[in-house]
Amino acid sequence: KRIVFVLAEFRSANSGGKIPLGLKRKGLRIVVTGGAGFVGSHLVDRLIARGDNVIVVDNFFTGRKENVMHHFKNPSFELIRHDVVEPLLLEVDQIYHLACPASPVHYKHNPVKTIKTNVVGTLNMLGLAKRVGARFLLTSTSEVYGDPLQHPQVETYWGNVNPIGVRSCYDEGKRTAETLAMDYHRGAGVEVRIARIFNTYGPRMCIDDGRVVSNFVAQALRKEPMTVYGDGKQTRSFQFVSDLVEGLMRLMEGEHVGPFNLGNPGEFTMLELAQVVQETIDPNARIEFRPNTEDDPHKRKPDITKAKDLLGWEPKIPSS
Ligand code: NAD
Ligand code: UDP
Ligand code: UDP
Repeated sequence: KRIVFVLAEFRSANSGGKIPLGLKRKGLRIVVTGGAGFVGSHLVDRLIARGDNVIVVDNFFTGRKENVMHHFKNPSFELIRHDVVEPLLLEVDQIYHLACPASPVHYKHNPVKTIKTNVVGTLNMLGLAKRVGARFLLTSTSEVYGDPLQHPQVETYWGNVNPIGVRSCYDEGKRTAETLAMDYHRGAGVEVRIARIFNTYGPRMCIDDGRVVSNFVAQALRKEPMTVYGDGKQTRSFQFVSDLVEGLMRLMEGEHVGPFNLGNPGEFTMLELAQVVQETIDPNARIEFRPNTEDDPHKRKPDITKAKDLLGWEPKIPSS
C-alpha cells in the first residue's frame, strides 16, 4: 500500500498526474545570463513555460527584478545577482549568454566594463560550458558588420568595423566573443551556437535607454519632439522580441553552430520610423533634427536565408 502511495506521489510530482512517466520530457537546467533584461526575460518566460529549470544570472546594470519577479514563487526559477566578469560555478545543460548592455547609451557609459563583459564574461561562461559539458549560445549582434559595405548583410560578410571608435567596446567586444566561442568549439569541443541579432523591440525595453524605438515612442507620448539623429536617412530593420526568442530557441535546439542572422528584413529610414510613430501615437508629434552620433552605421538589413533554410525560422510579426 505504501509503495503504491509513493509511486502515485512520484508520478504526480513528475507529470502533474496526467502524462505517463516515460513520456515526460525531462526539464533541462538552463542558465540565462542577462536574464533580467529585455530579451532575456522574454526568453526566460518561454523556457519556464516549456517546463525547464531556469537560473538567471544578472548584475542588474540594465536589467530589472520586475522583469522576472512573476517567477519568484516558481521552484523551477532561480535568480543570482552576479557579474559574469567573475567566475561562476554551476551545473547546467545549456547556457544562453546574453549578459551585456545593448543600447549605445549604456554600452558607452563605461566602455572598459563593456569590453570586460564581452571578453572576460564570455570567457568565463565558455569555461563553465567546457567544465560541465553544457551547450553554449552567444547573443552576438548585427554590429559585427560595422558600417556595412554589403547590403543586405550575409553571415559570410566580415564587416567594416572601426577598431578604435566609441562603439568598438561593443562591436569589437562581440567580435572577440564570437572568436572565443569558435575557439572553445574547435579547441575544446564545446557545443556552441552564435546568433547575430538585429535591432529588436517590444515590451520591457527600458523607456530611457536611448534606443530609437523607445525614444520616439516616449517622446511622442510626452508631447516632446522626436529626436532624429543626422538626416534621418540611415536605415535599420526592426524585429519583435517574440520572433527573436523563437529564433534563439530553435538555434539552441538545432544542430548548427552558425553564425545566424536573426532579424526582420523589413528596412526603414529613421524618418519613416518617426512617421509610423506619428500615425500610431500622435499625428501632431514634431520632429527635431540632432547631430548624429559617431560611427553610426548608414544602413542595416539582415539576409535571413541561412536561418530560413537551416533553422526553419523567419519572423512572424510583420515589420509594417
Ligand atoms: P538589456 O540591456 O535589456 O539586457 C542585458 C542584461 O545583461 C541586463 O539585464 C543587464 O543587467 C545584464 N548585464 C550586463 N552586464 C552584465 C554583467 N557584467 N554581468 C551580468 N549581467 C550583466 O539588453 P537586451 O536588449 O535584452 O540584449 C540582450 C543581448 O542581446 C545582449 O547581449 C545584446 O548585445 C544582444 N543584442 C540585442 C539587440 C537588441 O536590439 N535588443 C540587438 C543585438 C544584440
Ligand atoms: N570558469 C568559470 N566557471 C567554471 C569553469 C571556468 O567561471 O565552471 C572560468 C575560469 O575561472 C576561467 C575561464 O572560465 O577564468 C576559462 O576557463 P578554462 O577552464 O577554459 O581556462 P583556464 O581556467 O584554464 O584558463
Ligand atoms: N536614432 C535617432 N534618434 C534617437 C535615437 C537613435 O535618430 O533618438 C538613430 C541612430 O542614430 C541610429 C538608429 O536610430 O541610426 C538606431 O539607433 P539605436 O540606438 O536604436 O540602435 P543601433 O544604433 O544600435 O542600431
